[in-house]
Amino acid sequence: MKTALPALAALAILASLTGCQPGGKNASTMPTNNKPASTPPTAAPSTTVTPATNAAPAKVVRSEEEWRKMLTPEQYRVLRQAGTERAFGTVYEEFKKQGVGTYVCGGCGAELFSSKEKFDSHCGWPSFYDPANAKNVLTRDDLAHGMVRTEVICAKCDGHLGHVFKGEGFPTPTDKRYCINGVSLKFIPAGQTNAPAK
Ligand code: FE
Repeated sequence: MKTALPALAALAILASLTGCQPGGKNASTMPTNNKPASTPPTAAPSTTVTPATNAAPAKVVRSEEEWRKMLTPEQYRVLRQAGTERAFGTVYEEFKKQGVGTYVCGGCGAELFSSKEKFDSHCGWPSFYDPANAKNVLTRDDLAHGMVRTEVICAKCDGHLGHVFKGEGFPTPTDKRYCINGVSLKFIPAGQTNAPAK
């Protein structure tokens, strides 16, 4: 009798290579415990900021050398090279424990998501149903890896955050799943100040 194991292994490998995949239902609200968790390195001041136009956020522009210096290798691979962190990794486990607070860009400090829109999609990556500060989150078509997906990027620094999927049946107000790499985010617990990128 043939086994399904090879097929499952292939799916797991594909997911690890390509990142977020369209997911399933049965989401639940993620419990919070207000426990601060470790965060990625604090964003360093930018070297060039161009003025905002048409209410868009001011752009944060840095050279590749500057990004490499201020980001961890994993953050650089994800944020600047559109990589994908391993599903169900350490950062995801930290994410699940984080309580009330705000998620800002790990590259430039822009406010992106909040714990209010966080939910457990069981996909192995941080999930939100809506951005907390929509003007700082942009989307664009992503046709890589033979799939049609919608990439999510930071409007200020153009850093790759993840992908967004619609209509998966999750019991959330938007039925959207922003599937975000944890290393692209920095968690600011409620009551703490987020030092803005300069
Ligand atoms: Fe950013």
